[in-house]
Amino acid sequence: MLLDEMVERGLPEETRMMRDVTRKFANEHVIPFTRQNWRREWNMNPDERLPRKILEVADEIGIRTLGVPEEFGGTPLDPKTETQTFAVISEEISRGDCGLAEKLVQIWKVSVLLRNVAPRHLQEKWFPEVVKDPTFLLSHCLTEPRGASDRWLPYDVPEAMMHTRAELKGDKWVINGRKQFITNAWDAKLYVVYATTKPGAGMTKGTSCFLVPRGTPGLTVARCNETLGGRYMNNGEIALEDCAVPGDHLLVQDVALARAGVYFRPGKIIQGSKNLGVAVRAFEETSKYVQEYVQGGKKLIRHQATALRLAEMATKICAVRGLLREASRAVDEKLPEAEVLCNMVKLYASEAVLDVCRHAMELHGGNGTMLEFGIEKLYRDASMYLHMDGTVDITKFKIVKNLFPDTAGKYAGND
Ligand SMILES: Cc1cc2nc3c(=O)[nH]c(=O)nc-3n(C[C@H](O)[C@H](O)[C@H](O)COP(=O)(O)OP(=O)(O)OC[C@H]3O[C@@H](n4cnc5c(N)ncnc54)[C@H](O)[C@@H]3O)c2cc1C
Repeated sequence: MLLDEMVERGLPEETRMMRDVTRKFANEHVIPFTRQNWRREWNMNPDERLPRKILEVADEIGIRTLGVPEEFGGTPLDPKTETQTFAVISEEISRGDCGLAEKLVQIWKVSVLLRNVAPRHLQEKWFPEVVKDPTFLLSHCLTEPRGASDRWLPYDVPEAMMHTRAELKGDKWVINGRKQFITNAWDAKLYVVYATTKPGAGMTKGTSCFLVPRGTPGLTVARCNETLGGRYMNNGEIALEDCAVPGDHLLVQDVALARAGVYFRPGKIIQGSKNLGVAVRAFEETSKYVQEYVQGGKKLIRHQATALRLAEMATKICAVRGLLREASRAVDEKLPEAEVLCNMVKLYASEAVLDVCRHAMELHGGNGTMLEFGIEKLYRDASMYLHMDGTVDITKFKIVKNLFPDTAGKYAGND
């Protein structure tokens, strides 16, 4: 199809190769897994949602350890186009299933953070662990039961600081608090945890982050959330009760949020790309359907109303992709507009992809609502992106703050 040719155009050779390998992986392993399990998606226990075989194949083809430095056994990517490659690969996995994509991309995002902020001894200790075990997943724990949006704005006043606290006692950091809505919380073997270390300083000056291995006394995986979509991500909650972390597992002291941009920027690209993968799949399935299904004496595609919907779906997909390419290039080239473009991607993709999936539902008629067709799943999956990496409204605030840094509001508290 013409759309596929457009996707290929302009991709660097390495990215194109990775894309082909990942598409094969999604077609041969991810899609068959979700299709075989469509009846069970709601009944599976969380451990069944960690398909070992899929992680092993992802490992064999080298897409599990992207972001891990090559010296520790990670798959090397050209740094000049790394984020652009992340974008293409995450779209392809997510075209298979966005929840399974989420399991893998969390490794890449956290690895980018670690290679930028973790002291050498922690990189030497933990990267080889990630590489040697295909089921080794990583998790990034920022959100708490209260105040998540304050962190994104950021609303930088003492009363909006994180409730999770860490205190240095002897040679250990003792952490107390709770983290919710955390991707891979149920399955991860290593968690990056953010906590207040300087109460009263404001979150950008008084928040630190730590590496907390699973099994650390005081760390409990409290629950696995039953989510509307992206169900294979095993999103969950962790509790930290006098959780004593070795002093040398501190990643960044006090200014952790200020340094987390290296995680958030590629993170938003990957988020937008996974979102796009859902739309691409919805378009593919709908394209097949409307060319086969007969209604009113002719194939659906020959009805004008179908053309209107298909045209809108395709245009939104191309627009998301165009914005993603622009934003991921800006991240790779460290351009000043990277931040605002990343927020625009998050915003536009989360609304446009939901629209695409709604059209897919409409064009499938009643079949669109039936579990066995898989269209309702895509709609559910797309809806999750409204809330991931900040809400749509908070993202709009961030865009205006980027565009008008001197005059935009704080959007919380007194101006
Ligand atoms: C599937 C999924 C995966 C996630 N994965 C992770 C993860 O791996 N790690 C992690 O740390 N977090 C994760 N999150 C958390 C995510 O980042 C938060 O859900 C998101 O930031 C919104 O926070 P909240 O749900 O607490 O909403 P709230 O902050 O409570 O917001 C509620 C509503 O109030 C609005 N609002 C808030 N403040 C303002 C304001 N000042 N002005 C106007 N309106 C406002 C919001 O836009 C929203 O509509 C995940 C969430 C989901 C749903």
